[in-house]
Amino acid sequence: MKILLIGPQGSGKSTQAGLLAEYLGIPKISTGDIFREMPRVKEVLAVGKLVDDEITAEIVKKRLQESDCQNGFILDGYPRTIEQVNIFEPSFDKVIYLNVPRGEVVKRLMQRGRADDTVELINKRLDLYYRQTQPLLDHYKSQGILVEVSGLGDIQKVQDEIKKSI
Ligand code: AMP
Repeated sequence: MKILLIGPQGSGKSTQAGLLAEYLGIPKISTGDIFREMPRVKEVLAVGKLVDDEITAEIVKKRLQESDCQNGFILDGYPRTIEQVNIFEPSFDKVIYLNVPRGEVVKRLMQRGRADDTVELINKRLDLYYRQTQPLLDHYKSQGILVEVSGLGDIQKVQDEIKKSI
């Protein structure tokens, strides 16, 4: 099963992707996690910008070719823009949209307190998400593989809804 999870930062996407990956016995691939480990792109992340599309696409492509991904994967964070879709689009069986209203994700992100979670950066990343990533939903809707799950409520309830949707 090849699955993409889409949702704004603070929607619980990473947590849900992790739980689902464990349940299905396939790896969770998070571009955010990959980039946070890469000294070269630290400055890009620190100002709330996106990493270069070509570099990102190449990293994901290579990672998905590794043997642990051959039975499927949960992708969290790629593709994030239509440009990335045009450079490299993994084939997905399902795209899960984790829907949480903007007001709620801002509240959650403020509580999370990660180093890159200042009010300014939170809003900058969310603006980017609504402008560049949200349009991907139409793309996957037209392919007939999009499912929407509400990200409100407790972690296990959301995970149960996700399992039901796939
Ligand atoms: P995330 O943990 O998904 O919120 O990602 C953290 C940061 O990593 C983002 O703010 C971007 O700077 C970078 N990043 C993650 N995924 C991508 C991507 N697909 N394209 C470009 N930059 C990305």
